[in-house]
Amino acid sequence: MIYLDHHATTPCDARVLEVMRPFFTEKFGNAASKQHAFGWAANDAVEQARRQVAALIGAGSKDVIFTSGATEANNLAIKGAAKARQGERDHLVTVGTEHQAVLDPMKRLEREGWRLTVLPVDRLGRIELAALEQAITPRTALVSVMAANNEIGVLQPIKAAAALTHAQGAWFHTDAVQAVGKVPFDVEALDVDFASLTAHKVYGPKGVGALYVRRNKRGVTLAAQLDGGGHERGLRSGTLNVPGIVGFGQAAEIARGELTEEAGRTLALRDRLLNALEATTDGMTVNGALDARLPGNLNVSFEGIDGAALLVGLDDIAVSSGAACTAAEPSHVLVALGLSKDRALASLRFGIGRTTTAEEVEYAAAKVADVVTRLRALSPV
Ligand SMILES: *Cc1c(COP(=O)(O)O)cnc(C)c1O
Repeated sequence: MIYLDHHATTPCDARVLEVMRPFFTEKFGNAASKQHAFGWAANDAVEQARRQVAALIGAGSKDVIFTSGATEANNLAIKGAAKARQGERDHLVTVGTEHQAVLDPMKRLEREGWRLTVLPVDRLGRIELAALEQAITPRTALVSVMAANNEIGVLQPIKAAAALTHAQGAWFHTDAVQAVGKVPFDVEALDVDFASLTAHKVYGPKGVGALYVRRNKRGVTLAAQLDGGGHERGLRSGTLNVPGIVGFGQAAEIARGELTEEAGRTLALRDRLLNALEATTDGMTVNGALDARLPGNLNVSFEGIDGAALLVGLDDIAVSSGAACTAAEPSHVLVALGLSKDRALASLRFGIGRTTTAEEVEYAAAKVADVVTRLRALSPV
């Protein structure tokens, strides 16, 4: 099997697994145990990881709150910010192409009485800043716009969106899961208030993530969503996943060191894949802007093809037709770009990653061309 689904998850890098291992066994201490050396060692390792994760996004380490992943980080940012501003403001803004882990907390808040604006995107998947500016009012508590889309890889204008948000006294959250480690992402340069990250999309372990929470500016704060021992500045109680956090730190350090080289290599492979597909397959279109996009992402759709049959035919290539979580339905992201249901279903998302080779990309392109040709011969449309 060839793995071309790095937006769904990435393998844990061997260098990451190696540094995690002792924290399951001899260094098993609870990072909150303040009275003995087992706890101190765990706490030191967590604080080192916090510095490593913070360095990847240009943050101070005190601004990084560890969570169980980005779903939790998004929920904490959105529900926590809304709760913190309840009574003062009553409106939220997000975008139709966000991950479900942003859209669903937003919709829950809407059911609880918040007003919600879900902005459309253009045919290339980008928000329109004029529409965003119009949507934000002095009643807006929080605006959430993802940095990079997990299906079409499209990058949003985060710095400009954050500036428009702050002009109305609202706070700005970004789901930065797909951007971090793949393209430069700096919380100071972008001036975001909250950013969600997860280790397993950057060659770290599953089940650990972080929320960047700005301090000492604009009064930014959060209402905790988990109460208990008061860990993580009181924002996220619960015994820390020390091995996972250590792995996240190592993954962040590797990503920071290799970002430029890796982005260049994955972009070259992405272009190679696109060129090979274009040379062999008619009736194919690229979904989403190609110029403002994650280097390792390609999302294409095919005319006159049954999407389910296409995936069945690609039996030795791990790709997906949409996000991992919602596979049988047409992708809400592609529908938001204006694709029909059938066309959205006849789409493939390729995610090129750290270990992808030119041979794999060439093989995948040839296989797709072969399956598309065969399916069209079976049922000419
Ligand atoms: C994977 C992903 C998430 C969810 O992250 P988990 O750590 O798996 O909960 C959220 N947002 C985006 C954009 C993602 O790609």
